[in-house]
Amino acid sequence: MSRNQHSRKTRFAKRSLGQNFLVDDGIIHRIVDSAGDLSEKLVLEIGPGRGALTDLLVERSGQYRAIELDTILAEKLKSRFEGIEKVEIFEADVLEADLEKILAPSEGIEGAVIVANLPYNISSAVIERLAEVSEMFAEAILMLQSEVVDRLAAPPGNSSRGFLTVLTEYVFEAKRLFSVTPNCFRPRPKVQSAVASLRPIGRSRDDDFPRLRNLVSVAFRQKRKTILNNLKGFSGVHDPVPLLEAAGIDTKLRPEALTIEEWIKLAKVIGADSSAGE
Ligand code: SAM
Repeated sequence: MSRNQHSRKTRFAKRSLGQNFLVDDGIIHRIVDSAGDLSEKLVLEIGPGRGALTDLLVERSGQYRAIELDTILAEKLKSRFEGIEKVEIFEADVLEADLEKILAPSEGIEGAVIVANLPYNISSAVIERLAEVSEMFAEAILMLQSEVVDRLAAPPGNSSRGFLTVLTEYVFEAKRLFSVTPNCFRPRPKVQSAVASLRPIGRSRDDDFPRLRNLVSVAFRQKRKTILNNLKGFSGVHDPVPLLEAAGIDTKLRPEALTIEEWIKLAKVIGADSSAGE
């Protein structure tokens, strides 16, 4: 592609839709290879854009579906794959789409895998949405901002740990796969990127989940404070000390030090004590 063609295409990328298109063939192959054998799987691609990953995904998958919000790009993809039965392109917002329906595989297809170079402005919201439908797929391979991947995979004690880490850990095993430099995209993003794998671990979101979500959200509001001090702001908790003691958690710890098991225990103890956090 000539320089002029490149810059014309770059100019038409919509920033509001997080459009940074992949142009590096090596990275495109690495992402699709990370998804493993797709021949009997349904692949859902979120934000296929100009189709950088799409040809390979269509070629390798048993069934392919995509959700693209940009009308022009969705229309182009629809005409490009017209007549190919296993391909369906949905023009929709992934945050509002009926994912349960879109992830339901046709007969003869063995489960679903999600692949996406996500728009970074909505990546946390997409991960939360994917957590809600985690029983519908086996793995998500996601290109994210490198910093977000660090946060998702941050172990207890790591300062990158936060609300999104704990929520992700409740539902997924998160792994950083590899880094991707801005040069691999047009236009180039201002941040470093990385590809992550999220594999649902089969923990069901029971009745305590909404309380856990609220608790973690409140507890990480001021990361430098202790868990004890942060819990003082949690609705319905009058004295956090006995609750933390009952959950076996040191009151002087910062929220980032707690393991997922400790968060689950704490949410249960608080729930048993009152209707706090509801
Ligand atoms: N997959 C392409 C690639 O790798 O070159 C494009 C990736 S680009 C980072 C993100 C894509 O997501 C764009 O095509 C954008 O239009 C689309 N998008 C943005 N917001 C979306 C939303 N809410 N729902 C579905 N697609 C969205």
